[in-house]
Amino acid sequence: NGTGVDAVSGATFSSKALKDAVNDAAEQAGVTNKDAFTSNTVETKAQDPIEDTWDVVVVGGGGAGMAAAAQAAQNGDSVLVIEKNAEVGGNTLVSGGQYQSVMPYLVWDPSDPDATTGKGYDGNEYNKVKSVQGCIDELKTILNWSEEPFDEDYYKDHEYVAGDIEELSKHGVVADYLPTLQALKKEIQAYLDWAQPKLDAGTPESDLTLFSTVNLHIFQTYYGGLRQSADKSSWIYGDVDLVSQFIEDGQDLKPWLEDMGSTFVEDTQPTLIGALWYRENQFIGADVDTDGDGQKEEYKGRWGTYFVAPMTSFLNANDHNQIMTRTTAEELIQEDGRVSGVKATMYDGTEVTAHAKKGVVLATGGYAANIKKVVETNEYWDPEYLNEKTETTNRGSLQGDGITMAEAVGAATTGMGYTQLMPISWVDNGDLAFGGGDYAVYINPTTGKRFVDETSERDVLSLGEFRNGIEWNGHKGVFIEIANAATPIPGPYPYQDEDEDGRQYVRTIGELADLLKEEGFDTDVETIKATIEDYDQAIINGTQPADVSKKQFSALIGDCEKNDDGSYKADTYNLDDAKLRIRFLAPSTHHTMGGVAVDTKRHVLDADGKVIDGLYAAGEVTGGIHGGNRLGGNAITEIFVSGRTAANAITEDN
Ligand SMILES: Cc1cc2nc3c(=O)[nH]c(=O)nc-3n(C[C@H](O)[C@H](O)[C@H](O)COP(=O)(O)OP(=O)(O)OC[C@H]3O[C@@H](n4cnc5c(N)ncnc54)[C@H](O)[C@@H]3O)c2cc1C
Repeated sequence: NGTGVDAVSGATFSSKALKDAVNDAAEQAGVTNKDAFTSNTVETKAQDPIEDTWDVVVVGGGGAGMAAAAQAAQNGDSVLVIEKNAEVGGNTLVSGGQYQSVMPYLVWDPSDPDATTGKGYDGNEYNKVKSVQGCIDELKTILNWSEEPFDEDYYKDHEYVAGDIEELSKHGVVADYLPTLQALKKEIQAYLDWAQPKLDAGTPESDLTLFSTVNLHIFQTYYGGLRQSADKSSWIYGDVDLVSQFIEDGQDLKPWLEDMGSTFVEDTQPTLIGALWYRENQFIGADVDTDGDGQKEEYKGRWGTYFVAPMTSFLNANDHNQIMTRTTAEELIQEDGRVSGVKATMYDGTEVTAHAKKGVVLATGGYAANIKKVVETNEYWDPEYLNEKTETTNRGSLQGDGITMAEAVGAATTGMGYTQLMPISWVDNGDLAFGGGDYAVYINPTTGKRFVDETSERDVLSLGEFRNGIEWNGHKGVFIEIANAATPIPGPYPYQDEDEDGRQYVRTIGELADLLKEEGFDTDVETIKATIEDYDQAIINGTQPADVSKKQFSALIGDCEKNDDGSYKADTYNLDDAKLRIRFLAPSTHHTMGGVAVDTKRHVLDADGKVIDGLYAAGEVTGGIHGGNRLGGNAITEIFVSGRTAANAITEDN
């Protein structure tokens, strides 16, 4: 026994630390032959080849694969899931688990505009959520959006500034999205007819019910993903049918997961980094009878909601249903033009031939951990910013295997030049630091000033960081995020108010100078202080900060009491004594928007747009959905919807 293992299962990101700690302990305990202790001496021997048949073979046991397996089993199909890692989960397991989908019962309802509560899926009555300062201005921008065809020519002579919707709205809309825009304008007008008199009478925006509709979600996914290649030769945006389908069908996700035992926070619609609006849903876990003893066990968090619930549903449905872990799919079997199975190899070299009577679903995730592929395909980022040194938030198995296998049977790919960089990653290892931009300021370490609208899309934030951040501890684009320590970080954030070396510190503004000096920043703290005060005063007064304007403000950086209607008591404002959460962050690769081409049933398409018989794809392995930039929280919605859709298409096709 020793530490000669690839990783510690279930502790992916802390594996190295755990192995180091065990090595230290072994040394202290007097282990003399350290080489033997740390080397991988486990011998494996291939078993007899395995060959078997299922209705559906799913490649990849992340969220999309699990959703496909659960839906296929519910449709009566037998299912095999092949997973490369030692456990199911993929990136879905390490995700924040927040997914975008408006819950109509929590937002403004035109048929009952003054309602302050709504009935949830579980039959309980919930308070509707409030709007956030700035949302109405954004709605007004959309209301005035030009309905002319999108004027690409304008941007031949003018720089396209991603995220600047004031400007973009003057230059028309891609024709496919015009009907959505027109329907959305009607919805917004109805809301403003109700809201404007209240605002005029002095009601703060933060005391009105939030406006949020499926059309707003579709339209924001469109403009948040509309991007131009670096050489200005091409544009990209999400396919309107794929976007509409995942957002509309996303409305059924919560009840579907809840039916299998998942549990969610039912009464909030928060935002997260690069999400553009307030419509995130947060899981809690699942209550599921996994061992069949008639008693439900409680599973917490992502593991419960996204794995135990669908996994139990599919494993219990049929004795033949199975998950093969530590098994890498390598090749699709194609007979007479139809994909009919998968060849894979187990960790010990055992060969697996899995035949699929009805269909194969590729759900192998993206390739953001394959920096070579990311760099080779890049059409968007300046190589100075995205290169082989760039870190990733992803797990190591996300290499793009599914894309390679699909291409080998003639699949087309789309959007491969666009990789999302996560603007709030830890500098020490590239992992996601979690958070949102609506409650924080991002400070340029050189000038001490804000440099970007923190509620922008992720590519806008990352670009701003590269241009304004510094090189620190070998990483480019490092900036200082400051928020009030009492404002919680959404998602599974691991730290409270404690210091975490090189990552997070809790200080007052008076203590900031020493911290920055210790960490090697020579930022002028008086300028940071003036920046924060100007920012906070703008929020209190309902105006915009002098440096960079911002679309949504949900919290001050300093302390300030509030009135019952949510407005601030300006004379109680206090920055000097406020506990501030200070984080040092930088961009790293996060999501690959490109992937195999699919239709709305998630059939995989060839270069002529024809369906490759028997082959389906779901989740991040697919392209064409998020355009050149994915909105925060759209992935989880999409992967679960597309997994289910692929399974349903298999049923329809057979
Ligand atoms: C840290 C982090 C946080 C995130 N937070 C959010 C969030 O809060 N909200 C949101 O919407 N999105 C979030 N995302 C994005 C989202 O999690 C992913 O896009 C999504 O989980 C992808 O799901 P998937 O099922 O397509 O792929 P994955 O969940 O990555 O699963 C793919 C699986 O396929 C397996 N596999 C790969 N190749 C093979 C092979 N050859 N043979 C067998 N198996 C193979 C992999 O090991 C993996 O288990 C986050 C991503 C990360 C990395």
